[in-house]
Amino acid sequence: MATVYLSLGSNLDDRLTNLKNCVESLKEVLFHTVESYVIETEPQYFIDQPFFLNQVIKGETTLTPEELLSFTQNIEKNMGRSKGVSYGPRIIDIDIISYDNVMMETPHLTIPHPLFFERIFVLKPLKDVEPCWICPKTGHSIDFFLEKLKHNI
Ligand code: ADP
Ligand code: MG
Repeated sequence: MATVYLSLGSNLDDRLTNLKNCVESLKEVLFHTVESYVIETEPQYFIDQPFFLNQVIKGETTLTPEELLSFTQNIEKNMGRSKGVSYGPRIIDIDIISYDNVMMETPHLTIPHPLFFERIFVLKPLKDVEPCWICPKTGHSIDFFLEKLKHNI
């Protein structure tokens, strides 16, 4: 089984219920799950939209990275997410942050997630579920990335 960390985000309708429903759906393929606290964050990139609720979930899965991506994309579709502005408002967004120590880059899937290190809304809840998590690609700790962000602000 592979250990995976997924980042969830919602900023439309009942955000907390969206996160809860998403976690329930994920449990079909994720075992021994650990859920982080839920954090409210202001939108990044495309700022004229409602605040997000974000959460990270850790779990173990027998799915391959590609299978996991199609499973998460199906959840997004079933929950009614429509294609909108890039980085824009969404009922649910599910990003694969890491999958064991896999490093891969295809047109549809990059692991570890290519932007996780610049996102407080990923780093903080990730620290909650796995304080000693180390990026398989760079070898850096969560605190390293958080510290770096502080200096960029
Ligand atoms: P956002 O960047 O706002 O999360 P989307 O959720 O629409 O945008 O994702 C855009 C594309 O990112 C997806 O179609 C997916 O193929 C791709 N992608 C690449 N790497 C990942 C990853 N690690 N997790 C989730 N999606 C990824
Ligand atoms: Mg996404």
